[in-house]
Amino acid sequence: ALDATLAAHAGEIAALIVEPLVQCAGGMRMHDPEYLRLARAACDRHGVHLIADEIAVGFGRTGTLFACEQAGITPDFLCLSKGLTGGYLPMSVVLTGDDIYRAFYDDYGKLTAFLHSHSYTGNPLAARAALATLDLFAASDVLGRNRELAAHMARLAGPFRTHPHIGDVRQRGMILAFEMVADPATRTPYPWQQRRGLDVYRHALDRGALLRPLGNVVYFMPPYVITEAELDRLAEIAWECIELVTLDPLPFGDIEPDGRSGWLA
Ligand SMILES: *Cc1c(COP(=O)(O)O)cnc(C)c1O
Repeated sequence: ALDATLAAHAGEIAALIVEPLVQCAGGMRMHDPEYLRLARAACDRHGVHLIADEIAVGFGRTGTLFACEQAGITPDFLCLSKGLTGGYLPMSVVLTGDDIYRAFYDDYGKLTAFLHSHSYTGNPLAARAALATLDLFAASDVLGRNRELAAHMARLAGPFRTHPHIGDVRQRGMILAFEMVADPATRTPYPWQQRRGLDVYRHALDRGALLRPLGNVVYFMPPYVITEAELDRLAEIAWECIELVTLDPLPFGDIEPDGRSGWLA
């Protein structure tokens, strides 16, 4: 479908934007690295730039420093932020290659310069936080440790696969997601108005964990300093909360007649 769309509209499409391997805010939807390879090939075939938004998946989250590495591809633009500063200060960067750079680098008289910046571009404090984060990657085996933690998360995921109201368990590196459904056999979702994910958040908070489900998708995307013991506790709490909110009727029972929960997120 992507190839057909690019073929039909190649002359009007400037670029394809993807979140490599995991669409995070979209519900922790995951695809195989092969999809990226095929998308890269399709973009090349039709002369369309490929933009990889690795703001969430970059810096070791999916098991490699950048998610694109798992597909062996190079995007035309790479967007980075979040993990770049370890989350301590806001900074984002867009990297691109020489082809793009040269398209804007010319004699002044040709007026092709791309004059674009933000008020706080290159903020020195944020830049220092980014350098400190990169030093941590250089000084310790962050990716190796993440692989151990990811393996532990995979072990913890086991029991969730047989839960009567979990329709899908998916993981990529240090992202693990459980999708709560009314009927796993048909993957029939709960009516969205019931906001069962919100109840998971409320029950988890009572138990000392901050889980922030996306709709009915409960997920772990923990900081890299988390320990195995903390992951164990997180899984215990997630299990308890999923048990509670998949009971019928809802324990909080506060769905309003118009379908909205009485409790504001
Ligand atoms: C957080 C996030 C953004 C927004 O990044 P900003 O630096 O806040 O603009 C964009 N894309 C993805 C995938 C994100 O996770």
